[in-house]
Amino acid sequence: MDNKVKTYLQHFGISEATQRFLGKPQRMFIGGAWLEASDGAVAAVIEPSTGGLLGSIPMGTAQDLDLAVRAARQQFDGGAWSQLKPLERERLIHRLADLVEQHGDELAEIESIDMGKSVVQARAVDIQGTVDTLRYFAGWASKLHGRTVEPSLPGNYLAYTRKEAVGVVGVIVPWNFPLQTMAWKLGAALATGCTVVVKPAELTSLSALRFAELVQEAGIPDGVLNIVTGRGSVVGAAMSSHPGIDKLSFTGSTPVGCTVGKSALEQMKRLTLELGGKSPAIVFADADIEAAAQAVANGVFFNSGQVCDAGTRAYVERSIYPQFLEALAKYTATLKIAPGLDPDCFISPMVSPQQQQRVLEYIALGKAEGARLYYGGEPLEGPGFFVQPTIFADCDNSMRIVQEEIFGPVLVTAPFDTVQEALTLANDSQFGLAAALYSNDLGKVHGLIPRLRAGTVYVNAHSTLDPSMPFGGYKQSGYGKDMGAEQLEFLLETKAVWITLP
Ligand code: NAP
Ligand code: MG
Repeated sequence: MDNKVKTYLQHFGISEATQRFLGKPQRMFIGGAWLEASDGAVAAVIEPSTGGLLGSIPMGTAQDLDLAVRAARQQFDGGAWSQLKPLERERLIHRLADLVEQHGDELAEIESIDMGKSVVQARAVDIQGTVDTLRYFAGWASKLHGRTVEPSLPGNYLAYTRKEAVGVVGVIVPWNFPLQTMAWKLGAALATGCTVVVKPAELTSLSALRFAELVQEAGIPDGVLNIVTGRGSVVGAAMSSHPGIDKLSFTGSTPVGCTVGKSALEQMKRLTLELGGKSPAIVFADADIEAAAQAVANGVFFNSGQVCDAGTRAYVERSIYPQFLEALAKYTATLKIAPGLDPDCFISPMVSPQQQQRVLEYIALGKAEGARLYYGGEPLEGPGFFVQPTIFADCDNSMRIVQEEIFGPVLVTAPFDTVQEALTLANDSQFGLAAALYSNDLGKVHGLIPRLRAGTVYVNAHSTLDPSMPFGGYKQSGYGKDMGAEQLEFLLETKAVWITLP
């Protein structure tokens, strides 16, 4: 840890537990053992609010991944985990949820320091979301059953179906909600009796490693969960082509999702892809304008826009467009730009200098494309990879800033005249993760919900998530669902059994 990071941590004060964790060398978690990379390679961990050096993590190899898959395989094929009764799995997952809750403040600090995000939001959203997801799926472990069927075939048969865990699940996650996204995939996998190998994002692996300690403490057998840190092009690629992985669950960008998906399909792996988004918000003149402006701003600027379903395109009924933009800017000005550990932080830094650069380039592109810069858009002084929340007005759907995922605090807006025009603009995207409607006209809202090509529709809110509701994209935003009862189907095979009776 360098002095910049030390001073930062001292200034805001972090718990002894977090100090202990950050002070020790980080190791991967494979088959219950804490290992360095097989070739000893490490990568630096950079703290985004200061740009300082936090520590290092092992850069796993294909060989390390193979070791993890074998450990997971062994538990799945007859190991202690495979012998557990459903209620015993349920109890272990609940125990893990208890431990995550108990260590919630520490995990939130780790997430904030590693990813840059607001520590307060990390505690309320990422960590609480992790606990809730584990608890929700714990309860499912004992409720997964097949059916008894009465066939019409001549003869006498007992015909029934069995729900069977799909096997070893490979999990690849991005850096924006590191622990929570992992928990979405893990909760359901553990409930169904699968075993798991996780590759966290290279930029944000620390919370997964601390979580692995809690998995061990909960008494979940060694090898059920394995964490292999490292590069996507190495560990991730090895995972998507490893014959020992039965199912791949990926969250990340659409281009990488395509690569991973192709590789997985070559071996007929089961597949879930949670990919990018460019989610629209449609604001009608009958909406509560102040409330809608706040919800739209929160919906795009939360986690500094590094959110897959962020509402990044706002289409506003022309009669209220100027008034709405004003309300939006007024509220946005109240969102504090600050280091992640600042308790009042809302706009945290980008995760990395590359991400900061990418967002700044899109802001420059927006100006060049002729969008009207309405708010923000100025470079901010370092240290830390900050970007000002930025609002463009009078955008056109042919602009790249309207069509491409920026993944930063940038909102594009445009006025519309008719309901049909708003719908056409909203659906005019390769993505289909989410959409939001702001209106108090129930007829209009219900009429639009079925016509929006998106996996989630929010009404008068944005990003309301709960483990009981399925999350996943239409179109190029993905394939399959995380969370909700729907997710379980993606982790279970259905076996048809025919017994000929005398
Ligand atoms: P990314 O570049 O696609 O990376 C995602 C993960 O894939 C990382 O762990 C990455 O490893 C790994 N990876 C990279 N190349 C790989 C390869 N060739 N084979 C296998 N794995 C590989 O995405 P990101 O920049 O981390 O995250 C932002 C993206 O995630 C956005 O597009 C966002 O919309 C999407 N996202 C979607 C959802 C959803 O639920 N739909 C949720 C959150 C985020 P490295 O870290 O080493 O690169
Ligand atoms: Mg980091």
